[in-house]
Amino acid sequence: MEYEVIIGLEVHVQLNTESKIFSTATNEFGGSPNTHISTLCLALPGTLPVLNEVVLEKAVRAGLALGCEITQFTKFDRKNYFYPDLPKGYQISQYDKPYATKGGIHVKWKGQETEKFIPLTRIHMEEDAGKLIHSHDSSINRSYVDYNRAGTPLIEIVSEPEIRSSDEAYAYLNELKTLLRYVQVSDCNMEEGSLRCDANVSIRPKGEKGFRTRVEIKNLNSFKAVKQAIDYEVEWQKDMYARGETFKQMTKLWDAALLKTIPMRSKEMSHDYRYFPEPDLPALVITDQYIDDIRRHLPELPRAKKERYIKELGLPEYDAEVLTSEREIAEYFEKALSISKDAKKTSNWVKDEVLGIVNKESISISEFSVGPERIGKLVDLINRGEISGKIAKTVFEEMLQSKDDPESIVETKGLKVVRDDKAIEEIVNRVLETQQESIEAWANGKDRALGAIVGAVMKETKGKADPKIVNEMILAKIGPLGSKKQ
Ligand code: ADP
Ligand code: MG
Repeated sequence: MEYEVIIGLEVHVQLNTESKIFSTATNEFGGSPNTHISTLCLALPGTLPVLNEVVLEKAVRAGLALGCEITQFTKFDRKNYFYPDLPKGYQISQYDKPYATKGGIHVKWKGQETEKFIPLTRIHMEEDAGKLIHSHDSSINRSYVDYNRAGTPLIEIVSEPEIRSSDEAYAYLNELKTLLRYVQVSDCNMEEGSLRCDANVSIRPKGEKGFRTRVEIKNLNSFKAVKQAIDYEVEWQKDMYARGETFKQMTKLWDAALLKTIPMRSKEMSHDYRYFPEPDLPALVITDQYIDDIRRHLPELPRAKKERYIKELGLPEYDAEVLTSEREIAEYFEKALSISKDAKKTSNWVKDEVLGIVNKESISISEFSVGPERIGKLVDLINRGEISGKIAKTVFEEMLQSKDDPESIVETKGLKVVRDDKAIEEIVNRVLETQQESIEAWANGKDRALGAIVGAVMKETKGKADPKIVNEMILAKIGPLGSKKQ
């Protein structure tokens, strides 16, 4: 039986605001337990929430970057459940009036020629819960609670069940992360939990209309885990149907060590949460002017940027893809280009040399010691014929060791292209005396012999001679190809 895979993703993203969503407690990852908290995070009696306006601004920015419609009238609701990491006994979330709806993400994955549009259902704002820390290191098992994370602003991005494979899911997450990082609302670091993803998975026989029972998978700690868990779950469901069995809608946990999904509980329904409007927060009216203001300040998004690099700068698609993969990389490239005025050469330097080191050292491009200005100037030196491409590599090595400009490195190390004909001629003469064999070969019609002679001269000049001059000079001295052949 051939099955079609149906996937919908629910992604929680922590917003990088300075303070929490409803209090002035600091919003920071890590720190000793219970040091980033306020009375509100602990739900002490008498405390009341006040919406941090930066949360709304960042949430709207994210919504616009994802092509959503922003809801004019939106409100908060209480989602009730009991767990020690949630001292109020309810989470402030949004139920029937999420602040953003629709929108979607264009994705492309390996082996795929054209983009696919994955529509979103909604995005809503909510607060994060605290964390339980279980200790097993003494004879007594204890659990501790850390409220540092309680009240961290979150947006939950819910996709339509339009994802059809684990590769698609992987590409969707990557694109989502890229977009949210571009608009600087979150670093989307899965290891630190600033992006978390639950995957809803079901399958149905090819051609069948309507959806079958789905399983929701939690505890996915990396994009790779999302892919593995989906693949595992699809096989599990196929196996169930093959044996003629059915299963209930449920929540499972991904076990990254065992590489399998493990049932956790039967799926709770929304009525289990007894949602009702949050009485301590006013409803929000988001005006068009507010939305337009944020829209106007959005940066150029990666897809548009990539298009422009291909169409206006004439870069190959691969280059455009690499350079726009992170906003910081694109900004670095554009800064360098504004000096060099040569898109392809600058692209080569940024994607090969600069990113080569940045990736090897696992740093971000903004931490790289050679800034875009110096790369721009270096490319300019090559284009003005001041140095050869080979010498440029030497200059780059020098730049890594110092703060000097490429120009001054070329000057102090004497790396400038030698155009002084006399000096070059002297070297050519000297080298030709040692190249009798190649000169013979050239005269006998072996065209490759010229390369050997030019190479020998360039080596002698340490790559500094203008290759064009060297070529002309040698030809003038050794005569035309195959002169002895007749
Ligand atoms: P809940 O709030 O109970 O988790 P939702 O209706 O909000 O339920 O759906 C959550 C996610 O599940 C969405 O991303 C949606 O696309 C996805 N989903 C819904 N039905 C299915 C299905 N049959 N198979 C796979 N995913 C599904
Ligand atoms: Mg859900």
